[in-house]
Amino acid sequence: MIFPAYVQSMIEKLRDAGFTAYAVGGCVRDTFLGRTPNDWDVTTSAKPEETMAVFSDAPFTVYAANGLKHGTVTVSLDGESCEITTYRTEGTYSDHRRPDEVHFVTDIRDDLSRRDFTVNAMAAAPRADGSFDLVDPFGGREDLAAGLLRAVGDPVKRFTEDALRILRGIRFASRYGFTVDPDTARAMHECAPLLEEIAPERIGDEMRGILKAPHCKRILTQFEDIAGRLFPACSVSLLPVGNASLTARLSCLLAPLSPEEAERLLLHYAFGSSAAKTVSCFLRFREAELARHDVRCAVADQIGRENMDDFFAFRRALAPADTALVAHKSATLALFADGVCYNTATLAVRGADLLVAGIPASPKIGQILAALTRDVIAGKYKNDRDTLLRAAIADYSSVSSVPSD
Ligand code: ATP
Ligand code: MG
Repeated sequence: MIFPAYVQSMIEKLRDAGFTAYAVGGCVRDTFLGRTPNDWDVTTSAKPEETMAVFSDAPFTVYAANGLKHGTVTVSLDGESCEITTYRTEGTYSDHRRPDEVHFVTDIRDDLSRRDFTVNAMAAAPRADGSFDLVDPFGGREDLAAGLLRAVGDPVKRFTEDALRILRGIRFASRYGFTVDPDTARAMHECAPLLEEIAPERIGDEMRGILKAPHCKRILTQFEDIAGRLFPACSVSLLPVGNASLTARLSCLLAPLSPEEAERLLLHYAFGSSAAKTVSCFLRFREAELARHDVRCAVADQIGRENMDDFFAFRRALAPADTALVAHKSATLALFADGVCYNTATLAVRGADLLVAGIPASPKIGQILAALTRDVIAGKYKNDRDTLLRAAIADYSSVSSVPSD
């Protein structure tokens, strides 16, 4: 187990000051898995004020902003920072999410027992001889080796305290390909109704993590009841198995919904208006006939070049046997070449050209441009400035009584 230099310095400094301290949680799990942790967290017997005193001098910098009442102090060294939290247990949970209060304790085992899964409830610290101490009271290392996700303690009790753990569990299993221990899985299904009390943006965060993870289809198939509770009428079976972006996966999951309902749900779960719009747009073109040039132009116009790979990944997931999609994709991408018209913005004439040509400013200008776009897409005219100006003037003269004086 290799600790980054800044983490090792912080743990040693706390130990030199007479406290105990360990790296804990996700960083220990990920290191054992041979992965690079997102961040390193340290847990210590020092109370927050004591931690602040230990790191009060250079080269360390201490920040103790909003985490302080939960015992967290952020310490940085050489531009790297680490959250250092006092060993704590949690009080009662009246909202199925956050403890009503936290209690500082002196035994690390008590701190580990409040953590969600055995693989997340391990703590490790470097020894002088290069080896390390491991505190693993719930068999996390063995579960990790067996690829098993198991709640710490009584799973029903743990998911009742904090229902978000259900989604965290699905996320970890999806990310690492773990099997969920049967008792833990049963409790996840049983406690799922409590998810209604979790803030939608937290649910959205976890869903994003789940859908980005490689094993999401298998795990969501096991927990289809939970997926369906969060996204009514969604279809886990349409999720692609290989690599696919979050947008493509979300669109597949929500493919059975109406575009409006999908957009509403994504906004509710705080996926952001851009993702919500893109997904709802994909759903509008869920069954569009891509063999038609005018349909491909509408796809190019409304979905945009930047989303085209995701859109075709979505269409491929819905119709894996449709071999024509490859050709439809190239034909659609070809629309983005210079000089090709697929919408009013790519038409070879603009409103200003029509004004210069003597057509007076009025809403009719917009109608003429829309009609020319339709005609170019339909193949009636080439996308050529002179051709289009002539057509516009002829069309305008034939339907307007041009004032003559
Ligand atoms: P990630 O790689 O996603 O950051 P992580 O395990 O580090 O995974 P964090 O949310 O960063 O997850 O939390 C750090 C640690 O805090 C976890 O490993 C776990 O021990 C504990 N923890 C976090 N959230 C909860 C929770 N809701 N209930 C119980 N323990 C939790
Ligand atoms: Mg983390």
